[in-house]
Amino acid sequence: MKDCIIIGKGPAGLSAALYVRRAGFTPLVIGRDSGALGQSHRIENYFGLEQPISGDELFRRGLAQVERLGIEVISDEVVSVRETNGFRVSTAAGRIASARTILLATGKSRNLPKNFNAQEFLGRGVSQCAQCDGFLMRNRALAVIGSGDHAVAELSHLRQLTDNLTLFTNGETITTDRFPKNLPIVTERITELYANDLGMLGGIRTEHEDYPIEGAFLAQGIASGSDFAIRIGAIMDGENIRVDRNYQTNVPGLFAAGDCIGGILQISKAVSDGAIAGLSINEYLRSLPESKE
Ligand SMILES: Cc1cc2nc3c(=O)[nH]c(=O)nc-3n(C[C@H](O)[C@H](O)[C@H](O)COP(=O)(O)OP(=O)(O)OC[C@H]3O[C@@H](n4cnc5c(N)ncnc54)[C@H](O)[C@@H]3O)c2cc1C
Repeated sequence: MKDCIIIGKGPAGLSAALYVRRAGFTPLVIGRDSGALGQSHRIENYFGLEQPISGDELFRRGLAQVERLGIEVISDEVVSVRETNGFRVSTAAGRIASARTILLATGKSRNLPKNFNAQEFLGRGVSQCAQCDGFLMRNRALAVIGSGDHAVAELSHLRQLTDNLTLFTNGETITTDRFPKNLPIVTERITELYANDLGMLGGIRTEHEDYPIEGAFLAQGIASGSDFAIRIGAIMDGENIRVDRNYQTNVPGLFAAGDCIGGILQISKAVSDGAIAGLSINEYLRSLPESKE
Protein backbone atom coordinates (compact mmCIF):
# COMPACT_ATOMS: atom_id res chain seq x y z
CA MET A 1 0.00 0.00 0.00
CA LYS A 2 1.29 3.47 -0.94
CA ASP A 3 1.49 6.24 1.66
CA CYS A 4 -0.27 8.64 -0.68
CA ILE A 5 -1.80 8.63 -4.15
CA ILE A 6 -1.83 12.08 -5.73
CA ILE A 7 -4.37 12.44 -8.53
CA GLY A 8 -3.16 15.17 -10.88
CA LYS A 9 0.30 16.07 -12.11
CA GLY A 10 -0.18 19.83 -12.37
CA PRO A 11 1.55 22.38 -10.11
CA ALA A 12 -0.51 21.41 -7.03
CA GLY A 13 -0.01 17.65 -7.36
CA LEU A 14 3.69 17.78 -8.20
CA SER A 15 4.43 20.34 -5.48
CA ALA A 16 2.73 18.08 -2.90
CA ALA A 17 4.65 15.05 -4.19
CA LEU A 18 7.96 16.83 -3.49
CA TYR A 19 7.03 17.53 0.14
CA VAL A 20 5.69 14.01 0.76
CA ARG A 21 8.74 12.35 -0.79
CA ARG A 22 11.25 14.57 0.99
CA ALA A 23 9.66 13.57 4.33
CA GLY A 24 10.54 9.94 3.54
CA PHE A 25 7.09 8.75 2.41
CA THR A 26 6.25 7.16 -0.95
CA PRO A 27 3.77 9.07 -3.07
CA LEU A 28 2.40 7.76 -6.35
CA VAL A 29 1.28 10.44 -8.80
CA ILE A 30 -1.37 9.56 -11.38
CA GLY A 31 -2.21 12.25 -13.90
CA ARG A 32 -3.82 12.19 -17.29
CA ASP A 33 -2.13 15.11 -19.00
CA SER A 34 -0.59 18.54 -18.49
CA GLY A 35 -3.93 20.01 -17.29
CA ALA A 36 -4.36 23.80 -17.36
CA LEU A 37 -0.61 24.32 -17.90
CA GLY A 38 -0.92 22.60 -21.27
CA GLN A 39 -3.34 25.35 -22.34
CA SER A 40 -1.14 28.24 -21.19
CA HIS A 41 1.00 29.47 -24.07
CA ARG A 42 2.88 32.18 -22.22
CA ILE A 43 3.51 32.39 -18.49
CA GLU A 44 5.29 35.43 -17.14
CA ASN A 45 3.83 36.08 -13.69
CA TYR A 46 5.34 33.10 -11.83
CA PHE A 47 8.31 33.57 -9.52
CA GLY A 48 11.78 33.02 -10.97
CA LEU A 49 10.90 33.24 -14.66
CA GLU A 50 13.48 35.59 -16.12
CA GLN A 51 11.77 35.27 -19.49
CA PRO A 52 8.19 34.12 -20.21
CA ILE A 53 7.90 30.38 -20.85
CA SER A 54 5.14 28.14 -22.16
CA GLY A 55 2.95 26.04 -19.85
CA ASP A 56 4.27 22.92 -21.59
CA GLU A 57 7.84 23.89 -20.67
CA LEU A 58 6.94 24.61 -17.02
CA PHE A 59 5.12 21.26 -16.88
CA ARG A 60 8.17 19.47 -18.33
CA ARG A 61 10.43 21.06 -15.72
CA GLY A 62 8.06 20.17 -12.84
CA LEU A 63 7.87 16.57 -13.99
CA ALA A 64 11.66 16.29 -14.36
CA GLN A 65 12.06 17.70 -10.85
CA VAL A 66 9.87 15.06 -9.18
CA GLU A 67 11.28 12.24 -11.30
CA ARG A 68 14.79 13.23 -10.20
CA LEU A 69 13.66 12.43 -6.64
CA GLY A 70 12.53 8.98 -7.74
CA ILE A 71 8.82 9.75 -7.42
CA GLU A 72 6.67 7.40 -9.50
CA VAL A 73 4.48 9.30 -11.97
CA ILE A 74 1.97 7.37 -14.08
CA SER A 75 0.15 8.83 -17.10
CA ASP A 76 -3.36 7.44 -16.80
CA GLU A 77 -6.92 8.55 -16.07
CA VAL A 78 -8.41 7.75 -12.68
CA VAL A 79 -12.01 6.53 -13.03
CA SER A 80 -12.89 5.72 -9.43
CA VAL A 81 -11.73 6.27 -5.86
CA ARG A 82 -13.20 4.17 -3.05
CA GLU A 83 -12.72 4.27 0.69
CA THR A 84 -11.85 0.76 1.89
CA ASN A 85 -9.51 0.60 4.88
CA GLY A 86 -7.57 3.42 3.24
CA PHE A 87 -8.39 4.24 -0.37
CA ARG A 88 -8.50 2.23 -3.59
CA VAL A 89 -8.02 3.88 -6.95
CA SER A 90 -8.91 2.39 -10.36
CA THR A 91 -7.75 3.75 -13.69
CA ALA A 92 -8.92 3.67 -17.29
CA ALA A 93 -5.98 1.42 -18.19
CA GLY A 94 -7.12 -1.13 -15.59
CA ARG A 95 -4.61 -0.31 -12.87
CA ILE A 96 -5.69 -0.65 -9.24
CA ALA A 97 -3.69 0.92 -6.41
CA SER A 98 -4.27 1.41 -2.69
CA ALA A 99 -3.03 4.14 -0.38
CA ARG A 100 -3.42 5.42 3.15
CA THR A 101 -4.14 8.95 1.92
CA ILE A 102 -5.36 10.60 -1.28
CA LEU A 103 -4.66 14.08 -2.59
CA LEU A 104 -7.10 15.36 -5.19
CA ALA A 105 -5.18 17.86 -7.34
CA THR A 106 -7.29 17.55 -10.45
CA GLY A 107 -7.59 21.19 -11.46
CA LYS A 108 -10.71 23.19 -12.18
CA SER A 109 -13.88 21.16 -12.11
CA ARG A 110 -15.71 20.33 -15.25
CA ASN A 111 -18.73 22.52 -15.88
CA LEU A 112 -22.19 21.11 -16.53
CA PRO A 113 -23.03 20.55 -20.22
CA LYS A 114 -23.78 23.91 -21.81
CA ASN A 115 -25.89 22.89 -24.79
CA PHE A 116 -28.95 21.74 -22.82
CA ASN A 117 -30.73 22.47 -19.52
CA ALA A 118 -28.98 19.90 -17.25
CA GLN A 119 -28.71 22.32 -14.32
CA GLU A 120 -32.50 22.76 -14.21
CA PHE A 121 -32.99 19.07 -13.37
CA LEU A 122 -30.13 18.51 -10.91
CA GLY A 123 -31.67 16.66 -7.97
CA ARG A 124 -34.88 16.12 -9.98
CA GLY A 125 -33.75 13.14 -12.02
CA VAL A 126 -30.32 14.39 -13.13
CA SER A 127 -27.29 13.32 -11.11
CA GLN A 128 -23.51 13.60 -11.29
CA CYS A 129 -22.91 10.40 -9.31
CA ALA A 130 -24.27 6.93 -10.16
CA GLN A 131 -22.86 5.49 -6.96
CA CYS A 132 -24.66 8.12 -4.83
CA ASP A 133 -28.04 8.30 -6.58
CA GLY A 134 -28.30 5.19 -8.78
CA PHE A 135 -29.99 3.06 -6.14
CA LEU A 136 -32.80 5.62 -5.74
CA MET A 137 -33.58 5.21 -9.45
CA ARG A 138 -33.25 1.43 -9.71
CA ASN A 139 -35.41 -0.45 -12.25
CA ARG A 140 -36.18 2.77 -14.15
CA ALA A 141 -35.31 4.01 -17.64
CA LEU A 142 -31.86 5.49 -17.09
CA ALA A 143 -29.35 7.31 -19.26
CA VAL A 144 -25.66 8.04 -19.00
CA ILE A 145 -24.51 11.14 -20.85
CA GLY A 146 -20.88 10.83 -21.92
CA SER A 147 -18.52 9.14 -24.33
CA GLY A 148 -15.35 8.06 -22.51
CA ASP A 149 -14.06 6.07 -19.54
CA HIS A 150 -15.88 8.25 -17.02
CA ALA A 151 -19.15 7.19 -18.69
CA VAL A 152 -18.03 3.53 -18.70
CA ALA A 153 -17.51 3.68 -14.93
CA GLU A 154 -20.98 5.19 -14.35
CA LEU A 155 -22.59 2.64 -16.68
CA SER A 156 -20.97 -0.34 -15.01
CA HIS A 157 -22.51 0.72 -11.70
CA LEU A 158 -26.00 1.35 -13.17
CA ARG A 159 -26.12 -1.93 -15.10
CA GLN A 160 -26.57 -3.72 -11.78
CA LEU A 161 -29.65 -1.57 -11.05
CA THR A 162 -31.66 -1.55 -14.29
CA ASP A 163 -32.03 -3.33 -17.62
CA ASN A 164 -33.19 -0.13 -19.29
CA LEU A 165 -30.02 1.85 -19.86
CA THR A 166 -29.07 4.09 -22.80
CA LEU A 167 -25.87 5.98 -23.52
CA PHE A 168 -26.22 9.50 -24.96
CA THR A 169 -22.94 10.83 -26.38
CA ASN A 170 -24.43 14.32 -26.87
CA GLY A 171 -22.71 14.54 -30.24
CA GLU A 172 -19.24 13.64 -28.87
CA THR A 173 -17.02 11.03 -30.48
CA ILE A 174 -16.71 7.81 -28.47
CA THR A 175 -13.18 7.65 -27.06
CA THR A 176 -13.08 4.13 -25.60
CA ASP A 177 -13.86 0.58 -26.73
CA ARG A 178 -15.00 -0.41 -23.23
CA PHE A 179 -18.74 0.20 -23.70
CA PRO A 180 -20.77 -3.06 -23.64
CA LYS A 181 -21.48 -4.35 -27.18
CA ASN A 182 -25.30 -4.51 -26.81
CA LEU A 183 -25.71 -1.08 -25.23
CA PRO A 184 -28.22 1.27 -26.96
CA ILE A 185 -26.31 4.40 -27.96
CA VAL A 186 -27.78 7.72 -29.14
CA THR A 187 -25.13 9.84 -30.82
CA GLU A 188 -27.17 12.96 -31.69
CA ARG A 189 -26.66 16.14 -29.69
CA ILE A 190 -29.17 16.65 -26.89
CA THR A 191 -31.35 19.72 -27.40
CA GLU A 192 -33.39 19.64 -24.18
CA LEU A 193 -34.39 17.72 -21.05
CA TYR A 194 -38.14 17.82 -20.40
CA ALA A 195 -40.27 17.31 -17.29
CA ASN A 196 -43.02 14.82 -16.45
CA ASP A 197 -46.30 15.83 -14.77
CA LEU A 198 -44.59 15.93 -11.37
CA GLY A 199 -41.88 18.29 -12.56
CA MET A 200 -39.24 15.54 -12.44
CA LEU A 201 -37.14 14.47 -15.42
CA GLY A 202 -39.47 12.94 -18.03
CA GLY A 203 -37.14 12.50 -20.96
CA ILE A 204 -34.34 13.57 -23.25
CA ARG A 205 -34.98 15.38 -26.53
CA THR A 206 -32.57 15.34 -29.45
CA GLU A 207 -33.03 17.09 -32.78
CA HIS A 208 -35.03 14.20 -34.25
CA GLU A 209 -36.52 12.25 -31.35
CA ASP A 210 -37.82 12.19 -27.74
CA TYR A 211 -36.61 9.47 -25.38
CA PRO A 212 -38.57 8.78 -22.16
CA ILE A 213 -35.89 8.74 -19.43
CA GLU A 214 -36.42 8.96 -15.67
CA GLY A 215 -32.84 9.32 -14.50
CA ALA A 216 -29.83 10.82 -16.33
CA PHE A 217 -26.25 10.63 -15.09
CA LEU A 218 -23.81 13.27 -16.34
CA ALA A 219 -20.43 11.78 -17.25
CA GLN A 220 -19.02 13.87 -20.09
CA GLY A 221 -15.27 14.37 -20.22
CA ILE A 222 -13.14 12.85 -17.50
CA ALA A 223 -14.12 12.33 -13.86
CA SER A 224 -13.02 15.36 -11.86
CA GLY A 225 -11.78 15.70 -8.29
CA SER A 226 -15.23 16.85 -7.26
CA ASP A 227 -16.82 13.71 -8.77
CA PHE A 228 -14.51 11.57 -6.61
CA ALA A 229 -14.99 13.79 -3.54
CA ILE A 230 -18.79 13.67 -3.77
CA ARG A 231 -18.75 9.89 -4.10
CA ILE A 232 -16.63 9.48 -0.98
CA GLY A 233 -18.87 11.85 0.99
CA ALA A 234 -16.74 15.01 1.02
CA ILE A 235 -18.57 18.29 1.49
CA MET A 236 -18.51 20.69 -1.47
CA ASP A 237 -18.76 24.47 -1.75
CA GLY A 238 -20.57 24.66 -5.07
CA GLU A 239 -18.12 23.25 -7.62
CA ASN A 240 -15.17 23.45 -5.22
CA ILE A 241 -14.04 20.78 -2.76
CA ARG A 242 -14.22 22.12 0.80
CA VAL A 243 -11.02 21.70 2.83
CA ASP A 244 -9.87 22.82 6.28
CA ARG A 245 -6.71 24.84 7.00
CA ASN A 246 -4.64 21.66 6.51
CA TYR A 247 -6.25 21.06 3.09
CA GLN A 248 -8.02 17.98 4.44
CA THR A 249 -11.67 17.38 3.52
CA ASN A 250 -14.21 16.22 6.09
CA VAL A 251 -13.19 12.64 5.15
CA PRO A 252 -10.07 11.67 7.17
CA GLY A 253 -7.12 10.98 4.85
CA LEU A 254 -8.72 12.69 1.84
CA PHE A 255 -6.95 15.95 0.94
CA ALA A 256 -7.44 18.40 -1.93
CA ALA A 257 -5.35 21.25 -3.35
CA GLY A 258 -5.03 23.64 -6.29
CA ASP A 259 -7.75 24.87 -8.64
CA CYS A 260 -10.17 22.14 -7.50
CA ILE A 261 -10.62 23.86 -4.12
CA GLY A 262 -11.30 27.27 -5.68
CA GLY A 263 -9.73 30.63 -4.77
CA ILE A 264 -7.44 32.36 -7.27
CA LEU A 265 -6.75 30.09 -10.20
CA GLN A 266 -3.03 30.73 -10.53
CA ILE A 267 0.12 28.62 -10.56
CA SER A 268 1.59 30.30 -7.46
CA LYS A 269 -1.49 29.48 -5.40
CA ALA A 270 -1.62 25.87 -6.72
CA VAL A 271 2.06 25.36 -5.78
CA SER A 272 1.45 26.80 -2.31
CA ASP A 273 -1.65 24.63 -1.81
CA GLY A 274 0.34 21.56 -2.85
CA ALA A 275 3.15 22.36 -0.40
CA ILE A 276 0.78 22.86 2.55
CA ALA A 277 -1.25 19.76 1.64
CA GLY A 278 1.97 17.73 1.33
CA LEU A 279 3.12 18.81 4.80
CA SER A 280 -0.32 18.04 6.26
CA ILE A 281 -0.33 14.60 4.64
CA ASN A 282 3.05 13.90 6.27
CA GLU A 283 1.64 14.85 9.68
CA TYR A 284 -1.44 12.74 9.10
CA LEU A 285 0.66 9.70 8.06
CA ARG A 286 2.86 10.07 11.14
CA SER A 287 -0.25 10.12 13.34
CA LEU A 288 -1.57 6.77 12.03
CA PRO A 289 -1.18 3.87 14.50
CA GLU A 290 1.00 1.81 12.11
CA SER A 291 3.47 4.72 11.84
CA LYS A 292 3.97 4.68 15.62
CA GLU A 293 4.72 0.97 15.94
C1 LIG B 1 -5.34 29.23 -20.91
C2 LIG B 1 -4.79 29.35 -19.50
C3 LIG B 1 -3.76 30.26 -19.23
C4 LIG B 1 -3.25 30.39 -17.93
N1 LIG B 1 -2.25 31.27 -17.70
C5 LIG B 1 -1.73 31.41 -16.44
C6 LIG B 1 -0.65 32.30 -16.16
O1 LIG B 1 -0.15 33.00 -17.06
N2 LIG B 1 -0.21 32.39 -14.87
C7 LIG B 1 -0.74 31.65 -13.85
O2 LIG B 1 -0.28 31.75 -12.72
N3 LIG B 1 -1.75 30.78 -14.09
C8 LIG B 1 -2.25 30.65 -15.34
N4 LIG B 1 -3.31 29.76 -15.59
C9 LIG B 1 -3.86 28.98 -14.45
C10 LIG B 1 -2.95 27.82 -14.04
O3 LIG B 1 -2.55 27.08 -15.19
C11 LIG B 1 -3.71 26.93 -13.03
O4 LIG B 1 -4.15 27.73 -11.95
C12 LIG B 1 -2.82 25.81 -12.48
O5 LIG B 1 -2.30 25.02 -13.53
C13 LIG B 1 -3.63 24.95 -11.52
O6 LIG B 1 -2.86 23.88 -11.09
P1 LIG B 1 -3.56 22.52 -10.57
O7 LIG B 1 -2.42 21.62 -10.25
O8 LIG B 1 -4.55 22.84 -9.54
O9 LIG B 1 -4.40 21.98 -11.82
P2 LIG B 1 -3.96 21.62 -13.30
O10 LIG B 1 -2.70 22.32 -13.68
O11 LIG B 1 -5.17 21.86 -14.15
O12 LIG B 1 -3.63 20.05 -13.25
C14 LIG B 1 -4.66 19.12 -13.07
C15 LIG B 1 -4.10 17.72 -13.22
O13 LIG B 1 -5.10 16.77 -12.87
C16 LIG B 1 -5.17 15.76 -13.87
N5 LIG B 1 -6.50 15.10 -13.80
C17 LIG B 1 -7.74 15.64 -13.76
N6 LIG B 1 -8.68 14.68 -13.67
C18 LIG B 1 -8.01 13.50 -13.66
C19 LIG B 1 -8.41 12.13 -13.61
N7 LIG B 1 -9.69 11.76 -13.56
N8 LIG B 1 -7.44 11.18 -13.64
C20 LIG B 1 -6.12 11.51 -13.72
N9 LIG B 1 -5.69 12.79 -13.78
C21 LIG B 1 -6.61 13.76 -13.76
C22 LIG B 1 -4.89 16.51 -15.15
O14 LIG B 1 -4.56 15.61 -16.20
C23 LIG B 1 -3.69 17.36 -14.66
O15 LIG B 1 -2.51 16.57 -14.63
C24 LIG B 1 -3.81 29.60 -16.88
C25 LIG B 1 -4.83 28.68 -17.15
C26 LIG B 1 -5.32 28.55 -18.43
C27 LIG B 1 -6.43 27.55 -18.70
